Amino acid sequence: MITLVPPVTPLPEEAGELRTRVREFIAGELAAGRFAPRCDSWHVGWDEAFSRRLGARGWLGMTIPVGYGGQGRSALDRYVVTEELLAAGAPVAAHWIADRQTAPSLLRYGTEQQKRRYLPGIARGECYVALGLSEPDAGSDLAGVRTRAARVPGGWELAGTKVWTTGAHHAHLITVLARSGPPDGRNRRAGLSQFLVPLPDPAVRIRPIRLLSGEHHFNEVVLDDVFVPDDMVLGEPGEGWRQVTAELAFERSGPERFLSTFPLLDCLVRQLAEQQAAAEQQAAAVPGGPGGVSAADAAALGEIVARVWTLRQMSLAVAGALARGDAPEVAAALVKDLGTRLENEVIDVARRLARAEAAPSEPGLPGLLAAAVMYSPGFTLRGGTNEILRGVVARALGLR
Ligand SMILES: Cc1cc2nc3c(=O)[nH]c(=O)nc-3n(C[C@H](O)[C@H](O)[C@H](O)COP(=O)(O)OP(=O)(O)OC[C@H]3O[C@@H](n4cnc5c(N)ncnc54)[C@H](O)[C@@H]3O)c2cc1C
Repeated sequence: MITLVPPVTPLPEEAGELRTRVREFIAGELAAGRFAPRCDSWHVGWDEAFSRRLGARGWLGMTIPVGYGGQGRSALDRYVVTEELLAAGAPVAAHWIADRQTAPSLLRYGTEQQKRRYLPGIARGECYVALGLSEPDAGSDLAGVRTRAARVPGGWELAGTKVWTTGAHHAHLITVLARSGPPDGRNRRAGLSQFLVPLPDPAVRIRPIRLLSGEHHFNEVVLDDVFVPDDMVLGEPGEGWRQVTAELAFERSGPERFLSTFPLLDCLVRQLAEQQAAAEQQAAAVPGGPGGVSAADAAALGEIVARVWTLRQMSLAVAGALARGDAPEVAAALVKDLGTRLENEVIDVARRLARAEAAPSEPGLPGLLAAAVMYSPGFTLRGGTNEILRGVVARALGLR
């Protein structure tokens, strides 16, 4: 029988102490009014000062070696910090891509010069990165990218258009996947390369793509014959596909894939607990008074909480495998498919159970619900759509 998910790696003992410190920090930030919990905070909660405060505590670049400005700690330590921040809805978007994806990628494929240039800033929470993968006609079919990298003296010239590029308008760097050579026969995955392009650059035009609310989180990025010197190629020319897909295992399995709506769930549980307590008090005073949470509502809540817990175990299993140097592509795909669907189901449960309507400008549950509804269409798309991920799983099961 095929084992789809690796065994769960227990968190190290010292993780408990680390978790306590992160919780204390978050409580202090909340008490000082430095942030209000948000759904999807890893995509929409851009707060550079918050990122720098995390960096100062050694909670960014945790797995980057000390020699490059990081903490040299384990991926599981990093997991503890990120899950606490996400569960609290803390504003982690500014450093998110750099810390999660770019740092491991630079460590794996970067030159010494590239590591020294970018890793210390990432660990301090001062260097932000955008991912230039998707294009107007190449999202799921990433091997179809048409951005062209032409050989010129001393480097490469990039021309093309990227789309849905999160945070490019604030980023210091964009990693660009481009076609640098012809496909190898019918293998379109050959001939792709990754390039590091510092921002801003006069040859890079960044245009906002706004949400219905007017919020600006992602962009269209037009590369107008951008010169990239040889020393800013990431990894080997022609190895872009292999590098990008290895990065996706980091991108697909983290706690952000099931915690985007956790602040809403947390708020709902608190509201229902208050409702139940009030009903119990009233029932004690007035026998036969109105009831609290119904058995059906309690069961719906219990089911969703149990599933969050299961997803966490699966996600931890993938984190443990990544920490061992494995490439658990199938398990990561499963976590993302199941986790992002769960994020949406949290919204459905909140809509059914909450005694409140969604209202964007209100604090507490109405505001959290409104934001979750607005951001939810992206949950199952970003990082590879769920349909594509099910294809990955089906292939592993020998079904296609
Ligand atoms: C919030 C958000 C942030 C993002 N941030 C970034 C970013 O920073 N950088 C970046 O490069 N990209 C980013 N993206 C883009 C994201 O990676 C793409 O949207 C995603 O890969 C899907 O590509 P697409 O939009 O072109 O859809 P398409 O590939 O056109 O797919 C459209 C629909 O067709 C289905 N479909 C396509 N092919 C198949 C198939 N073979 N079998 C079955 N169904 C199929 C898909 O599942 C989907 O439902 C972001 C997207 C979102 C929503």
